[in-house]
Amino acid sequence: MRIKTKDIVAKLPVYQPGLSAEDVKREYGIEKVVKLASNENPYGCSVQVKQALEAEMSKLSLYPDGASLKLKQAVAEQLQVSSEQLIFGAGSDDIILMICRAFLTVNDESIVADQTFPQYKHNADIEGARTIEVPLKEGKHDLEGMLAAITDRTKIVWICNPNNPTGTIVTKEELITFMSQVPTHVLVALDEAYCEYVTDASYPNSLELIAKYPNLVALRTFSKIHGLASLRLGYGIGQPEVIRSINQVREPFNTSRFAQAAGIAAIQDQEYVSQCKQWNAEGLRYLQEQCERLELRTMPAHGNFIMIEVPTLGKVMFEQLVSKGIIVRAGFRHYPNAIRVTVGSREQNEAFIQAIEQILSECKVDL
Ligand SMILES: *Cc1c(COP(=O)(O)O)cnc(C)c1O
Repeated sequence: MRIKTKDIVAKLPVYQPGLSAEDVKREYGIEKVVKLASNENPYGCSVQVKQALEAEMSKLSLYPDGASLKLKQAVAEQLQVSSEQLIFGAGSDDIILMICRAFLTVNDESIVADQTFPQYKHNADIEGARTIEVPLKEGKHDLEGMLAAITDRTKIVWICNPNNPTGTIVTKEELITFMSQVPTHVLVALDEAYCEYVTDASYPNSLELIAKYPNLVALRTFSKIHGLASLRLGYGIGQPEVIRSINQVREPFNTSRFAQAAGIAAIQDQEYVSQCKQWNAEGLRYLQEQCERLELRTMPAHGNFIMIEVPTLGKVMFEQLVSKGIIVRAGFRHYPNAIRVTVGSREQNEAFIQAIEQILSECKVDL
């Protein structure tokens, strides 16, 4: 007799990562591959991190501190919040998982934008909860629509700010209007994976709002601006009661010694963070200008990636770009004619523009 999984597990899609640079090198025989598909930091991480990691090399046989006490203190100091307001995980993916584990069960509902980061729905599915998807409006979260979708069964509303994959933001004013109307029994999970990149003055300060709204929790990560995606480290910020609930379901050693040591060094090197933010803003400006020149429409981008509308199916453009050694992301359900491009280094951005310009001119000839 076969071992039967939970019903939901049999139906779950397996996460499909994008092509790696190695895949493209091998399959297309291309020497130089530019990967602009996963919103990774093109400059890597702070040099301080490397020193911190070396110091951990002699402690491989020892379990990490499950509570991440030192890291907690370092982040608390940086953000000016208390240690009880923080929880760490193996990437913010792990925080999303823990929130679902702690708050969702069969017959519960959570509300997400359509389209957004897939992990909210994925983890809610595993808990047997229902996901209500509220379409984006012009690429932005429809907060009024999300508010209207709240029922007695709603436990969580997910807001991805900036939104992946569109790059749009919810403003401070919009978020406050929303929070002031959300019932207090509903947790609002604000995913701020890209917050450090945002330069727009209307972007909300979630820390101020958490002090005011006990049902708000913010999610952040070391994978993006801090350049530590491989180490798996993310965190949640909320009022102590919410954080305690999430902590109940945390695996005992869900972050490694390396991740913790790297996180401390990374959060303390704010000069590096500012530098990356500035380089990203310059890269974003360049990509926006070039798209305008090539008459390609873009979504208003606020993170380290930009959604670009192309005159073919996004997947077709993806293939064309891959054949030139450029990896981007495509195949978004509601944006079939779009690609999502990570802001790379200057050289990478130029390589992308050169490639897409060439593809566009070739396809004009074809027409
Ligand atoms: C990249 C990303 C994350 C972070 O994932 P990690 O698990 O921290 O690597 C979370 N949310 C969104 C929207 C992202 O794009």
